[in-house]
Amino acid sequence: MALPNKPLGELKADLNPEVEEREVDILIVGGGMAACGTAFEIKKWAADKSILLCDKAAMERSGAVAQGLSAINTYVGTNSKEDYVRMVRNDLMGLVREDLIFDLGRHVDDSVHLFEEWGLPVWKKTDDGKNLDGKKGQKMGTLKSGAQPVRTGKWQIMINGESYKRVVAEAAKLALGEENILERVFIVELVLDANEENRIAGAVGFSVRENKIYIIKCNTMMVACGGAVNIYQPRSVGEGKGRAWYPVWNAGSTYTMCMKVGAELSMMENRFTPARFKDGYGPVGAWFLLFKAKTLNGLGEPYAGSDAAKAELEKYAPYGTAAITPTCLRNHLMLFEMKEGRGPIIMDTVTALATLGETMDKKELKHLESEAWEDFLDMTCGQANLWCATNTEPEKKNSEIMPTEPYLLGSHSGCCGLWCSGPAEDWVPASYKWDYNGVVYNRMTTVNGLFTAGDGVGCSGHKFSSGSHAEGRMVAKAMARFVKNNAGFKPALNKSNEELVDLVWKPVKVFHEFSAYTTAVDINPNYIKPAGMALRLMKATHEYGAGTATFYQTSSKSLEVVMDLLETMREDCEKLAAGDLHELMRAWEIYHRIWTVEAHLRHIQFRKETRYPGFYYQADYPGQDDENWFCFVNSKYDPKAGTWECKKEDYIKIIS
Ligand code: FAD
Repeated sequence: MALPNKPLGELKADLNPEVEEREVDILIVGGGMAACGTAFEIKKWAADKSILLCDKAAMERSGAVAQGLSAINTYVGTNSKEDYVRMVRNDLMGLVREDLIFDLGRHVDDSVHLFEEWGLPVWKKTDDGKNLDGKKGQKMGTLKSGAQPVRTGKWQIMINGESYKRVVAEAAKLALGEENILERVFIVELVLDANEENRIAGAVGFSVRENKIYIIKCNTMMVACGGAVNIYQPRSVGEGKGRAWYPVWNAGSTYTMCMKVGAELSMMENRFTPARFKDGYGPVGAWFLLFKAKTLNGLGEPYAGSDAAKAELEKYAPYGTAAITPTCLRNHLMLFEMKEGRGPIIMDTVTALATLGETMDKKELKHLESEAWEDFLDMTCGQANLWCATNTEPEKKNSEIMPTEPYLLGSHSGCCGLWCSGPAEDWVPASYKWDYNGVVYNRMTTVNGLFTAGDGVGCSGHKFSSGSHAEGRMVAKAMARFVKNNAGFKPALNKSNEELVDLVWKPVKVFHEFSAYTTAVDINPNYIKPAGMALRLMKATHEYGAGTATFYQTSSKSLEVVMDLLETMREDCEKLAAGDLHELMRAWEIYHRIWTVEAHLRHIQFRKETRYPGFYYQADYPGQDDENWFCFVNSKYDPKAGTWECKKEDYIKIIS
């Protein structure tokens, strides 16, 4: 058999990489849902401008939607936008930017209609109220023409979404043109302008397939590199460690790169620790909402409706007593059972399917069972493998569910991210919008010309895949306006090409200098490999930063300890070594992760209350303190002084 015509293993990193310089009007960093939205929209508004998109991976399968999804979680449809804001506000314990959420609610459905137009199969309801899945559903007409989607909850609709990301990426590529896209280019740092304070001017990155560095100048830029995973020790270790709920590629690049040029962050204390099927991280939404399954404690009791649970939820009124319990509090109840010795928590799939079977004939029931499998095969096929490997037939055997390790994100059920301007409209409070040269630009960060979307925008969770795409499109319009209004700007990077090349390639140089010193390439007194640094980071956050080791609890003292450890890690990152391009990417990922998790823990340290029980607990400040902390927490890193500042920012209610 002929061998494939490519080198075995990773491409070794040369000491002298090629350097390619580019200059464009608009730079899009990331190739996920938000960036695909921007790529699809931008040419309509800036046809005469030069545009470049850089994704660290291949757009067809990059980002959080890489494996596909089985539901679109935000489709407003016949619901009201005001209710959408109320739902997000309650789930995030009262503190959200209502301007951003309402604004998104106005546009999100349009993206869903486009997905369907591009070929994404959406489940529909027949006139007699029955569900039709996927392809059959197409016969019912499109959502845009008034067909009703199959809803699993008030906001979610079911899709056959294994190829969701491919469908969305194809449209983005066709609209932007392949010649304007660089795939497998990892952006490492953003660069400010040399002549104008607080003005974005470019970015630097490298190819993970060639020995090549890109230095890109731009007039305006959007950074949408998703959230952060593997900042905490995952529950699975050893060869299972690659399993995490969040697809493993997003390394906090959005937060780190923007904060390092001085963009203000907001609500970085917020995190998401989803309760999912244990070990496979399979989605639970369809089980709860479509199949109406209940969770039981280890004694077989439906603990969530018990008097003890109700009393616990009352402590967190009005959120805990609302019709829909916030996600963090659902976790809190689960942890309460586990800590009382009544774990593990079980998803009662057997009763759920049997109950549904009472009103169905055999064929319908068989169909339903295959939907249960497909729910995993669409988006988390590892869970289906695990069910096979453990002889789990959901109609015969229940499965365990478990809260995962913490993740940071701003578009799912979390809301950390960047402090962004809202739209230039009268109803948006003055402190929620700001201008550059007299014009307000929607979703611009506090750095002029720097935009973000999706997981990047803080204080407005529950956008999900559709909302992130729609937000990317909104940013496209804002950036188009920005370049037109600032057409005379000539970017001048505040770092020389030599400095940028030295920065990006440093781990390669360290490796080349010292690797001959020992016989085992990973063990060397002069350097540390990214894999070792990743273990170090995870151990520190796991034990002191409210990881699963302590049931998500931290304390003022533990935070002091972990901050100290992070500082040493950042110093030791000077000694990161990369022998090949894959390792160079790993080196930069771990660097981004360390900064991101530091921001997270600084915010937890600053907020003297526990706003999100079930996501994390600050033992010295248990419970909510609305009197002092019903506000956002913002932070800013000063790139010149190398210092951090945390401050309170007012919450303003817009929707009653
Ligand atoms: P992503 O789509 O994650 O894209 C990030 C992009 O940035 C990727 O292209 C990545 O390659 C690129 N990138 C990262 N770092 C760099 C760098 N340094 N340089 C260059 N490029 C970089 N939504 C739903 O509607 N329904 C669901 O059922 C659902 N399930 C989900 C399940 C999971 C496990 C997760 C994590 C999310 C789920 N979501 C769901 C939410 C949805 O996936 C996100 O809201 C959406 O993908 C966010 O879009 P984004 O563009 O911000 O990030």
